[in-house]
Amino acid sequence: MEALVLLLIIAVIPAAIASNKGRNFFAWYVYGILLWIVALIHALVLKPDMRAMDERRLATGEMRKCPHCAELVKQEATVCRYCQRSLTPLLPSAPRPDPDPAPTFLDSRAVKRREQKGREIPPAPPLE
Ligand SMILES: [Zn+2]
Repeated sequence: MEALVLLLIIAVIPAAIASNKGRNFFAWYVYGILLWIVALIHALVLKPDMRAMDERRLATGEMRKCPHCAELVKQEATVCRYCQRSLTPLLPSAPRPDPDPAPTFLDSRAVKRREQKGREIPPAPPLE
């Protein structure tokens, strides 16, 4: 009886590992109960399901898609880490000025010029 309780508890380990890699927690929990050591090794060598993890991040609101390169960036990001273009930050607490759910994005050089108004800035290098 105690062995069964222990198995039900330790079956969470491979399930948690697989869940962090974008897999279904419950399916891996059952797998862990049936074949614990196999499930544990399998979960450890499992490649992360990046698409499932991206979908989870989008669903939780942790990330959003860059409209320029379609990579995921943080909600608070002002510059895309992949294409370096400026993004309008979308803070969850801030009221949205536009009822349109699509975020508005500005050219990075235009934003930089606006932020550094009055300061001496070198001309931005031409794109491409
Ligand atoms: Zn981008």
